[in-house]
Amino acid sequence: MKSKKIVILGTGGTIAGTAADAGDSLGYTAAQVGIEQLVAALPALAATGCELLSEQVAQIDSKDMDVAIWHALARRVAHWLAQDEVQGVVITHGTDTLEETAFFLQAVLDPAKPVVLTCAMRPATALAPDGPQNVLDAVAVASQAGARGVAAVCAGVIHGAMDVQKVHTYRLDAFSSGDAGPLGYVEAGRLRLLRNWPSAPVLNGVLAIKNIAFDAIHRPWPRVEIVMNHAGADGRAVRALAADGVQGLVVAGTGNGTLHHALEAALLQAQTQGVRVVRATRCLEGRVLPHAGDVFADSQGLSPVKARVALMLALMDPA
Ligand code: ASP
Repeated sequence: MKSKKIVILGTGGTIAGTAADAGDSLGYTAAQVGIEQLVAALPALAATGCELLSEQVAQIDSKDMDVAIWHALARRVAHWLAQDEVQGVVITHGTDTLEETAFFLQAVLDPAKPVVLTCAMRPATALAPDGPQNVLDAVAVASQAGARGVAAVCAGVIHGAMDVQKVHTYRLDAFSSGDAGPLGYVEAGRLRLLRNWPSAPVLNGVLAIKNIAFDAIHRPWPRVEIVMNHAGADGRAVRALAADGVQGLVVAGTGNGTLHHALEAALLQAQTQGVRVVRATRCLEGRVLPHAGDVFADSQGLSPVKARVALMLALMDPA
C-alpha cells in the first residue's frame, strides 16, 4: 500500500524555541530550531507510516505574524494540497496568533484536505517539551481518512479554525473552542471525533469571504483596527483612526456587543463617513446576537481578532 504523504511546514514559535536553561519555560527565544531538525528529533514519526516532507516557510515568534507571511503560507499550503499524493499539511506555529492564521487559511483556502496547525507552550529544550507529542497528534489528524478543513491540535484536543482561541497564558492545554466545543480528541494516536470537520461556507451574509479571489491577498491589505468598549470608553480613538484613514473597525463590545453611548456615537459617525464597522464581543464565550434595529453588523460569531481578518478580506473582495 502506498504510504500517505504529509507535508510539515515550519513557521517558528515556542515549539521551535530554545532556552539556555532546560528548567526555564519563560526566558526562552522562540523560532530557533529549523523544521527539519524538529522532525528529525522525533523518531516516533516514522512509526506513523506516513511519508513526511518538511519545509520552512518562516521562522518567527508568532506575535510578529504579518500578512506577507500569511500570503507565503497560504501559497505553500495550496501548492502542497494540489499534489494528488499529499494527504494533508501540518503547520508548526506559535500559540499567540495561531487562531488568526487558522481562520485566515480556512477563509481563503477552504481546503478539501486537512490542514492542521500545531504548537507548544514549552520550548524544544524544556525538560518535558510538549511540542513533540503535539506534532505526532497533528500528523495523526492530517493523515486521518476523511479529514478536511483547517484545524488546530494542542494537548490532545482538536479545535476547528472558526472557534479555536488561546485562553491561557501558561498551561499546556492553552486553547478552547468556547461553547462550540472541540472537534474531537487525539488519544494514543487515534481520533475520537465529536463534530464535523470545518467546511464551507465559513461565513455567510455580509462577511461572505470564502470566494475571495486568491490573488487578492497579494494586494496591500485594507487597514482594519480593533477598539474596545469598557467603563469610561469614549469616541476619541475612533475619531483619530477615522481621521487617519482607517477602512474598517471591529469593536469588541461588552456583553452582547453593547457600547458606551459616546463610543457608539463616534462609531456611527465613522460608519456614516464610509468606515465599515463590525460589532463583536469581548466575552470569551457566546456570540453577539443580532436584533432588529441594530445599527452595526455583528461579527457572526467571530472573536474580535478573527472578525478583523474577516473584515479585511471582505474589504478586499470585489464581489
Ligand atoms: N510567543 C510565542 C509565539 O507565539 C508563544 C508560543 O508559541 O507559545 O510564537
